[in-house]
Amino acid sequence: MEGREREIMILGAGIGGLRVALRLEKRLKRGMGRIILIDQNDYHQYLYRIHEVCGPDYDERDIIVPLSKVIGGKRIEFRKMRVERIDAHRRVVVTSEGEMPFDILVIALGSSPQYYGIEGLEENSLVLNSYEAAREIRRRIEELFREAGRGETPPRIVVAGGGFTGTELAGELAEWIPMLIERYGLRRPDSFLTLVEAMPHILPGWNPELSKMAEEILASKSVEIVTGDPVKRALREGLELKSGRMIYSDLTIWTGGVTCNRAVGGDFEMVKGRIRIDDYCHAWGYEDIYVVGDASCALDGETGKPLPPSAHIAMAQADVVSHNIYASLTGGKMRRYIGERVGEIVTLGRRHAIGELWGLRMKGLTARVMKKLIHLWYVHSIGGVKLLLGDP
Ligand SMILES: Cc1cc2nc3c(=O)[nH]c(=O)nc-3n(C[C@H](O)[C@H](O)[C@H](O)COP(=O)(O)OP(=O)(O)OC[C@H]3O[C@@H](n4cnc5c(N)ncnc54)[C@H](O)[C@@H]3O)c2cc1C
Repeated sequence: MEGREREIMILGAGIGGLRVALRLEKRLKRGMGRIILIDQNDYHQYLYRIHEVCGPDYDERDIIVPLSKVIGGKRIEFRKMRVERIDAHRRVVVTSEGEMPFDILVIALGSSPQYYGIEGLEENSLVLNSYEAAREIRRRIEELFREAGRGETPPRIVVAGGGFTGTELAGELAEWIPMLIERYGLRRPDSFLTLVEAMPHILPGWNPELSKMAEEILASKSVEIVTGDPVKRALREGLELKSGRMIYSDLTIWTGGVTCNRAVGGDFEMVKGRIRIDDYCHAWGYEDIYVVGDASCALDGETGKPLPPSAHIAMAQADVVSHNIYASLTGGKMRRYIGERVGEIVTLGRRHAIGELWGLRMKGLTARVMKKLIHLWYVHSIGGVKLLLGDP
């Protein structure tokens, strides 16, 4: 091992993985280690904006950015390949291009949908967990509307899962569907979209006043909201709820939960479907394997309870992990990760947003401007002024 450059392999160039790579690259001196970044795509996704693909219009440049624009000219070796499995005991990553050995590993593969064993759900729904998935939803909706006859009622769309993702998706669809109704000369019903949530209110875990406000805004946009009734079974023609109620749909989009990316494999201890980590963001029981973002189960530093996945957590963990890898290579002191929930802002289409950040509640223009500023800050953090200004 002495004298050999250590191979630091980062799986996933999303919010957490890309930040680890960029931060490490800044700190590592030549000869200290090779940074290898692996992703199935050669672009980086602003995942927290993918629901906009299902809105009235979108600009691809607001959703994805070629990785070459961010890491070009840096000492980060990018490999486009699919991770199939991690063999932690043999210290190799099994990829679409073969096995890759590592010295230090960072798992930042994000999440996979969680179906909770609900009968028929995986086969009869789409999910919103990547740019490609968002484009598939858009394509299917356009197809359904194109096939509907003039003067008919529009196809019925159901979003199942009223958390953050489902609520933001419903907000976008509520603005796009009326345009499709008009374009294809369909009859406008009282409501054309249903949002189903198992808990008594959408945005569970949020301040109840904000949840109620979100429900009112969506209802004013002709979204039917069904709460307090979990999905029991999914069929081709719709969803059967626990109460026995049937929600008919031509397209069901499942946004009811996420679990650790399935490609991670079975070598890790899990908590609530995500990898258990220690205070330093190591995968539990492994000194040279770190986990950041949605793949990890981050605990609230105050309550000890699992925190809902968020971009903020992925970034905070990335800062700790890049520091700790550097410390492990230089004999420095490791940093602890202390989980905290800073809050979120949820958009409800292009005109409405509500949320709470650091205990400060906001809505309307303030919330929208704040969300935009956070995005600009993020873009600057990965690509500086050049990326912010959209330089080719
Ligand atoms: C619609 C939506 C809205 C959201 N809004 C917000 C918000 O407003 N605020 C907030 O804080 N959070 C929000 N989030 C959550 C936030 O985006 C995630 O918590 C964050 O992106 C997690 O970062 P990550 O690095 O763990 O994973 P990701 O950003 O998902 O990155 C994972 C990377 O791994 C790659 N990958 C996955 N599988 C493989 C494989 N098998 N092989 C190779 N590469 C692979 C992917 O291509 C991707 O680049 C939102 C999420 C969604 C879906």
